[in-house]
Amino acid sequence: MNAVMPDQADTRSNARRGTKKNTDYARRTGIDRSQLLRRSFQFAFLALNLWLGYEFLRFVHHYEIPGAPANPRPAGIEGWLPIAGLMNVKYWTTTGLAPVAHPAAAVLITSFFAMSLLLRKAFCSWLCPVGTISEWLWKLGRETFKRNFTLPRWLDIGLRSLKYILLGLFAWVVITMSARAVAEFLESPYGIVADVKMLNFFRYMTTTTAIVLAVLVVASIFIKNFWCRYLCPYGALMGLGALLSPLRIKRDPAKCIDCAKCAKACPSMLPVDVLVQIKSAECLGCMECVAVCPAEGALDMKVVATRFRVQPWMIAAGCAVVFFGFVGIAKLTGHWDTVVADALYRELIPRAHEYAHP
Ligand code: SF4
Ligand code: SF4
Repeated sequence: MNAVMPDQADTRSNARRGTKKNTDYARRTGIDRSQLLRRSFQFAFLALNLWLGYEFLRFVHHYEIPGAPANPRPAGIEGWLPIAGLMNVKYWTTTGLAPVAHPAAAVLITSFFAMSLLLRKAFCSWLCPVGTISEWLWKLGRETFKRNFTLPRWLDIGLRSLKYILLGLFAWVVITMSARAVAEFLESPYGIVADVKMLNFFRYMTTTTAIVLAVLVVASIFIKNFWCRYLCPYGALMGLGALLSPLRIKRDPAKCIDCAKCAKACPSMLPVDVLVQIKSAECLGCMECVAVCPAEGALDMKVVATRFRVQPWMIAAGCAVVFFGFVGIAKLTGHWDTVVADALYRELIPRAHEYAHP
């Protein structure tokens, strides 16, 4: 662990303590409820995913266990099939035809990308269940050890590129496949039971998988959002979308008192206290920095090139409108459910483990 050093934001905060340039500042009044609202959204989306997982398990059990009752397949489980989602986006946009297998995967990844285009990486910090668990883990680490840690800058920058490399590899695979090849892949036995194979990945974990997961959990306790920061290709895609978002965290140097509380609170370890606006693809749109800022008007989420202050409830409402809008339209237009004959599921699901990548 000697390659790991105390959180840079913490260090800067200590170094700058006592350098307040303005002791006569306007203190923010009122209770900030932005993080309560964000945590409520995170909790609700985690609960939704747990419910989807449970309902999908019951659906699978019907085909695996004699006498197990039938259960409808929850199409929302396809949110856990991001590569199928990218493939189907390609198929849909190049042919104009809705995919037969896993259309919800395309609907969900498109809705989350649209969310990023509008609201920065709000998907990662307000909805993603993996992001929620990552946040719980580093906060546990902070409570336990009184601080989190950062890697040396050269290593941090190098590792941060990994998620873009992984995204690039997936994107390359999808770009180089023809629409016909996408359809053949997703309508093959392997493609149809891709969701069951994902379930089996967690149900019948190999020792190697368990060790890798344990390492990720431990790393996430010490380093803020370890998985999201370094490895998540989904987050990398959302970050690229967020670069085009009209929203930015903006600091007004005239009102800022240089307390560095914002930088210390930032889960992405961004130097919020020294920049005038945050353009980074790592900004999660979580508004933790705004929540802790004591100076009225010093730090806000604003619409680019305007003075319009974006309130936390607007981010929350935006997430809800985009998510339910996409899902609602897909359901109403019949582009949500994968339609597979019961007999085919009966044949494929009990043998899902036998199907290898075609
Ligand atoms: S800059 Fe603010 S909104 Fe962006 S990640 Fe850091 S704390 Fe969250
Ligand atoms: S923006 Fe707010 S929290 Fe950040 S340094 Fe200035 S006064 Fe402190």
